[in-house]
Amino acid sequence: MPPVTLHDRLLAGLSRRELLRLAAWLGAAAVLPPFQPRRAHAQQQFADYPFSLGVASGDPLPNGVVLWTRVAPRPLESAGGMPPASIELGWEVARDRLFRTIEQKGTATASPELAHSVHVEVAGLEPAREYFYRFRAGGEISPTGRTRTAPAAGAAVDSLRFAVCGCAYYEDGYFTAYRRIGEGDFDFVLHTGDYIYEARPTSARLNRKVREHVIDDVFSLADYRLRYAQYKLDDDLRTAHLSAPFLMSWDDHEVANNYAGEVDGANTPREVFLLRRAAAFQAYYEHMPLRRPAFPSGSSMRIYRRLQFGSLVDLSILDTRQYRSDQACGDGSRTGCAEALDAKRTMLGDEQERWLFDNLATARARWTLIGQQVFSFARDLGAAAPEGRYAMDKWDGYAAARSRLYARLTDARTPNPIVISGDVHAHFGAELKQDFADVRAEPIGVEITNSSVSAGADGSDVAADWETTRADNPHIKYHGNRRGFIACTVTPKQMRMEFRSLERVTEPDAPVKTVSAFVVEAGVSRLSPA
Ligand code: FE
Ligand code: CA
Repeated sequence: MPPVTLHDRLLAGLSRRELLRLAAWLGAAAVLPPFQPRRAHAQQQFADYPFSLGVASGDPLPNGVVLWTRVAPRPLESAGGMPPASIELGWEVARDRLFRTIEQKGTATASPELAHSVHVEVAGLEPAREYFYRFRAGGEISPTGRTRTAPAAGAAVDSLRFAVCGCAYYEDGYFTAYRRIGEGDFDFVLHTGDYIYEARPTSARLNRKVREHVIDDVFSLADYRLRYAQYKLDDDLRTAHLSAPFLMSWDDHEVANNYAGEVDGANTPREVFLLRRAAAFQAYYEHMPLRRPAFPSGSSMRIYRRLQFGSLVDLSILDTRQYRSDQACGDGSRTGCAEALDAKRTMLGDEQERWLFDNLATARARWTLIGQQVFSFARDLGAAAPEGRYAMDKWDGYAAARSRLYARLTDARTPNPIVISGDVHAHFGAELKQDFADVRAEPIGVEITNSSVSAGADGSDVAADWETTRADNPHIKYHGNRRGFIACTVTPKQMRMEFRSLERVTEPDAPVKTVSAFVVEAGVSRLSPA
């Protein structure tokens, strides 16, 4: 008889209703007999359920995905409650949620150096197929995740559905948007960054807190690990990860607000800030379903990468933080900042820019997606300022780099370019122009910007400054200031974007609705109301 596990004890003491809830969270594992622990695992006994941070999958290829979990029986305690030793985990990939047809299985080592996280790169699966996965350790079974492989290279694809989201500030609101994503039927989820927030709340935020970070400011590796652990304990967030593979990217708050390359906004000496960046990057790697090329090296980590979805989508995921020049004119929003126009300024760094430009020249899929963080379209914030007023943290503060990017899209005849961004806690849909001042110029691409999961609290239907800036930004076709995400459906003929919003995030479980929808027809870089 297998030893009585925490899993069994947990189930024994629960009402039927609680059991059903738990079953929904754990997946089929909860209603199946637990695994017979293998000999090698027999000595592993956990103080508490070791998989409470959930599981995740990411970066689908035609032949596989990367599977993630972190073993942490006491997630908010030092080392997640784990002893300073490596342990072996088992993993399984099946065709069905009940694991009747196990496709692959194996073991992975969770080491204390990486906070007992594992990143299993499963290969040898079939393209464009749904799979289910789970982990086990010491007789305990993880929740069951659903994932999906990418279509085969060059294969015809009828339709692809994905969600775009970012900016989840724990104290500002509930992560209901993540839950609604989890309830959707998406092939993948693209995350535009600000998965965590690293700092104590501003005074505005202090007054509207709906829940609290366990520590205010994070600097060390242990601090960042604790922050990720607290976020990963959120059931809405875990639900989203269980539902589909995530394509992760980061923005500033995974390290420090509005940091730029090797400098933060507080004039910290470079070599000191880089220690913090190294800690932040390592913790990010430890908590995300990222593949081996993203493995951190000192204070660097390469997260820019290209993913293909048959002949339908060619996606480049960018990093607009790690390699950028410092914000011009001291950051903030500025009028007449000459420095912002300096051709030497970079948003991507030379190497990433060359890599991207090569991708854009060789893209052969119907749609070319550029997933990144800060919006690339011009946004004039100053109706009163004749020269316009622009946010220095966005591509507006890196105007020459933007010109190079847009020129490349045109010169290389990149098929149907769609830029995707986040960061500003508001939905936007915009048409892109080499010269935004030229109202009659044909757009050269389209951009969509996701609102936040919760940052900024409930928001409003439109931002207070929107009416005054609308006339100065005719290329911006949509703006919404509620929290939410974007649901995209791509077909060979068109791309449909649904801006989804929640009436509130300061109370849990609000319903979501599509507040506006647009389509882009292949061959026409325009946003049309759907
Ligand atoms: Fe944000
Ligand atoms: Ca941001």
